[in-house]
Amino acid sequence: MPCCSHLTWSTNEFKEWAHQGQGSLPMQSPLPRTYLILVGYLTDGRQEGNANLVDGCLYVKDNTGIIPCELLHFELEWLESLFLFPSWSYIPQTDRSAAGYVEILADPVPVNLPKEVCDSIPVTYLASAEPLLTSRIACKKRSKLALAGELVRLGPLLCIHHKTFFFLFLKCFTSAVWVPVLVQKPNQLAWHHILQLGHRYTITSLSMSSLKKSGQRMFVTSVSSCLLHYCAEQVREQPLDSAWQGESTQSSSLETAEQLSGSLELGVEEERPRSTKESKIISYVGTVTKILNGQAGLFLLDNKVCLCLAYQQLLNFARGLRPGACVELIDVHLLQKPLVSFPFIVLGACLSSTVVLKSFSRLSTSYQPPTSSGNLYLQLLFRYNLGMPLYLWLVSLLEMFEERFSCFFGRHRLLLSSTHRNPGAAEKFLVPLLQPMVPDRVEARDIYNEILEKIHHCPLQKYLSLNPPCQAPSLSVVCRVAEEKSWEGFSPSQLLSPLEAQHMGTQELNRRLAWSYCTLSAGSFQPRLILLGVLRVSSRSSSLQLQDKSSALPCVISHKDGSPFARTALIGSLLQVENYQLVVERFLQTDFPSWEHLANLEHVREKKNSVYVQFCFEDVQVLHAAEGQIQKGLRSGNSSSLRRKADGSLTSELETPKAKMLKLEDPKPDTHRDENCQGGQSSAGRTSCVSRLFVVTQKEGLMLRNYQLRREEDGEGSELQCSFQSTVLWLGRPQLWSHPREIGNLPELEETGCDGEEDLTRQEVLLLFMGKSLRWFPFLHLDGLYRFIVPCCSDLEVFDKLCFPPVPAKFLSRSSCPLCLPVQDTWHLQHETWISCLTERQLAARSVLTGMDQRISSIPEILHNSFTGSLVSFSGEIVERTLCASPKNEKPSVTVGLRKQKGSLLAADHSLKLSVSAAPDSGVVMDIYIAATYLQHLWGLLPGAKILFQNLERKISRFHNVYCTYIASSCVSIISLPASHLPFPSSPAGEASSPSLVFLSSLQPHLQNLPQARILCHLSCVRTLSLQWVCSLCSSIFKEGKCTRHSPPCPSHTGVRQASAWVLVEDGTGEALVLCKNQHVRAMLGLSLLEWEALQNCVQSRGRVSIQHGEATGTGCVEEPEDLIACYLRNLCRSPLICRPILLDFSLNRKPSKILQPAPLQLRNFRCGEVEFVSQVGPRPSLLCLNVEEVEQGTLSYLNSERIRRTSSHCQVVATA
Ligand SMILES: [Zn+2]
Ligand SMILES: [Zn+2]
Repeated sequence: MPCCSHLTWSTNEFKEWAHQGQGSLPMQSPLPRTYLILVGYLTDGRQEGNANLVDGCLYVKDNTGIIPCELLHFELEWLESLFLFPSWSYIPQTDRSAAGYVEILADPVPVNLPKEVCDSIPVTYLASAEPLLTSRIACKKRSKLALAGELVRLGPLLCIHHKTFFFLFLKCFTSAVWVPVLVQKPNQLAWHHILQLGHRYTITSLSMSSLKKSGQRMFVTSVSSCLLHYCAEQVREQPLDSAWQGESTQSSSLETAEQLSGSLELGVEEERPRSTKESKIISYVGTVTKILNGQAGLFLLDNKVCLCLAYQQLLNFARGLRPGACVELIDVHLLQKPLVSFPFIVLGACLSSTVVLKSFSRLSTSYQPPTSSGNLYLQLLFRYNLGMPLYLWLVSLLEMFEERFSCFFGRHRLLLSSTHRNPGAAEKFLVPLLQPMVPDRVEARDIYNEILEKIHHCPLQKYLSLNPPCQAPSLSVVCRVAEEKSWEGFSPSQLLSPLEAQHMGTQELNRRLAWSYCTLSAGSFQPRLILLGVLRVSSRSSSLQLQDKSSALPCVISHKDGSPFARTALIGSLLQVENYQLVVERFLQTDFPSWEHLANLEHVREKKNSVYVQFCFEDVQVLHAAEGQIQKGLRSGNSSSLRRKADGSLTSELETPKAKMLKLEDPKPDTHRDENCQGGQSSAGRTSCVSRLFVVTQKEGLMLRNYQLRREEDGEGSELQCSFQSTVLWLGRPQLWSHPREIGNLPELEETGCDGEEDLTRQEVLLLFMGKSLRWFPFLHLDGLYRFIVPCCSDLEVFDKLCFPPVPAKFLSRSSCPLCLPVQDTWHLQHETWISCLTERQLAARSVLTGMDQRISSIPEILHNSFTGSLVSFSGEIVERTLCASPKNEKPSVTVGLRKQKGSLLAADHSLKLSVSAAPDSGVVMDIYIAATYLQHLWGLLPGAKILFQNLERKISRFHNVYCTYIASSCVSIISLPASHLPFPSSPAGEASSPSLVFLSSLQPHLQNLPQARILCHLSCVRTLSLQWVCSLCSSIFKEGKCTRHSPPCPSHTGVRQASAWVLVEDGTGEALVLCKNQHVRAMLGLSLLEWEALQNCVQSRGRVSIQHGEATGTGCVEEPEDLIACYLRNLCRSPLICRPILLDFSLNRKPSKILQPAPLQLRNFRCGEVEFVSQVGPRPSLLCLNVEEVEQGTLSYLNSERIRRTSSHCQVVATA
């Protein structure tokens, strides 16, 4: 406890004293009073054995111990004398474990008499001594002399190479001449406590020394030097001549000086061209109101200015600098806004500044001593010779780093500044950030120049306000900022092309708005945002996460080569990622009646979002590898982590999530461990473990399953459990290891080479993952070789014993029904390698596995009519992601629907449609439907991502289209992330890069596969055309502002314009019927926007206008002739102007209408001038119009010539005369 003792004071005196101390900090309580008597010797530590430990501090000691003390007034005679301290405070350290220090509030009372002082001394006055320093000749011959002068400057204590020293500056009594004196003998360091600016002193036995490098001279104390208060009567002047006839004593001090400048080899801050500011040198007296960062030497004075002591290396030991203490700063640098984000003016104390403690704090605040060795703040400051702006930035980064991650690794290990060969996590993070900021030209910082030069020069003189180039905020801030950014300037209309949206009914419109996303990269933030986090895996969400103290961010990791991420050894490591995609999925609940209302945000009922991050393993920097916590775990009887050596080259550690979770989840006693554990009677029994190698042959997705295997005692037997299962093949027999660290490199595979393969072939087992073992979901992948490790176990049959149905061991290999093995919570999964990576020697085992890697089909194969399988696996790139209504027959099963999906932010009646293409340009597209209930476990399904889909159900629609649905046993894994420049999704189809130019005749062979193509064709005629105004809710005809549906009456007040037309086109190689919708009808008719608008307005009063066209003769006129609009349209369609060449982008119409069923081959007549041709014509394909472009004359002739050149052989029109 902090406390104070005032022997002679009354209670009122104490109260008064305490009250005054609260002046600037009324919220802080004063030091509590105790009534203890402190008696002891004052010492500078010189008699405690090693003189090197004399660090300039003073101590109070008695026969029981020694404690540092701090005095405002001190006399040399007091040293080694016994005192009674009438008034003092004891200040403990913050962490309580180490001793604090004593602040001596009043002069001590001597118990025995202090020693006598010496007689008169011959003294050289400064006026005559100063020329010695400036002239070179005098340097040669020197002896010891005594100097007298007034103390004008007192340098801080510095400690370099375990040598502590300081400089003081004496000024001539009569002139402005001053000389520096280096005080470096251990027994003289206590002088630092006596010396007071403006007082006069005499120092004896000084010799002279000069710095080799700069030639600067100074006086240096010798072992026999004494510091005396100057007293004119006691000194007699000595002429200089005699003083300088003696032996040279320069050597030792010079050596030290060389060492010193060598150890501070620091770059001089580069002068930058942009508005560099000059700092003012001022003096200041203020009260410490807050310790901003003791280690970094930052203190807040008077709640408004920041005092930085970092440039004074030892930070005054920060003793006495507690809130409430008063300090006087002499010659400090005043810096305004050195760092843009730093809120205070900064007073920087450099080596020529003096910091004097004026009064002790009377408040009960404790003290955290700055560590002088291994203080990363100061080490980096001196190593890179940082200016104040960079230093403050460094401090803010380190503070953040410590705050976020010390709870995972411990502050000490995290900030540990170690040798250059093995830098600590913080150093690994900071150094690459600092290096580009400091100039390459490294020039030794000459601290002597800084102290001795008459023209002051130091790193604080000039500065440039710094805008931090990057930031690394906590994950909760990252998520918040990402969410804000994703909604910033968001409007629903961005998500839709207005051309499309204006024709959408209410349901479709709102569904298209329901789910969108935006991706952010490091550069999307200002300044650039660096992600830091501890990689963990959550068994609750079965997802990988980056975590810090504030929050967790789900993450998706992939490899650049497309292999899945399975590095179990990375769990628990601290990662840094600078190249990533932060994905914000936005979920909107809206009720916009129609597109016209999109601007009115009242229709947005709910906004939600979820954030996750995707990155490549290759872009990860591991700042701190997961610790092998096995030792710790074993010691506590809870083996929770393993370390293995693979190939002897790299040591990968595996720290289990269980160990990681200690801080977040209560470690529950594991009911199953006892049976696995051999009891721990011997240390060998405790450290041994059993492992078994296996290869994954099938993995299913996460979902709620009805397993009632265990935990009956929990009463949860009947509840559905989130789970996944995987079929694996055991490789070899279980192995016993005396210690997890000794697990070798796949001995099982070598063993199978000589053993019979019989054993292997039948050992298939279905692994069930539930509860905590769900954490392995992100790591387990098809064709991966993994090892289960059962810690604390020496029972080789542990795996067989847990299988069910229980089968006697001898039948195991013959059993045809698959065995189930529930994966225990305590087991560890360790990824070893992939089948494809096995070496030659291990290929014997590989032969067992043949036939397993052929289950991945290609999209064209699956689309083909001859494909027979019903469960399919394939990979492809997502081209488009849209929400659609759940198909009636795909409604989520009752059991799944029963339970409210907590994580799902999408309405359950939605279903996701993914269009997946086999290769970026192949144009072969497969549609995949995923019910909303499955989506909560699926990450990274974004356009541009390449995905491996496994075990989807292949289905055929009633129009004979092949598509796939995601079912309970399905699974996806990400092969590659989308390119990071992806724009917003749902770009209108027409904006894609222009599709390849084809011929109608060439469409037939790959009817199923063509997503989009372009033809140059001639519009032959418009066969049907209909313009209508439909109700946005029920799609009935909307007329004169009302829905025409009567039973039951429809409340809708919003109509939507729709238009459709079937047109016939031919391109010389064939004909096709093209379905045009909405805005494409306008383009096909060649109407301007204004004409189209007017036309649609006319339709509003009629509800619907449609015309039909007789195919060849133009006779059939079945509409009411009186309607003007119908007449106009009919005339328009018959006009020769309509029939023109166009460039048509189309896709195959997958839902051909009845009237347009493919016709068999037929003969048709063609007329060309006077000649009539009869031609055999194939069935007309039915196309869906995606875009219509008019063709310029120039383009037309160019395209035509191109066509002729390319086609001569392709033309399939067989013409006969
Ligand atoms: Zn300075
Ligand atoms: Zn209606």
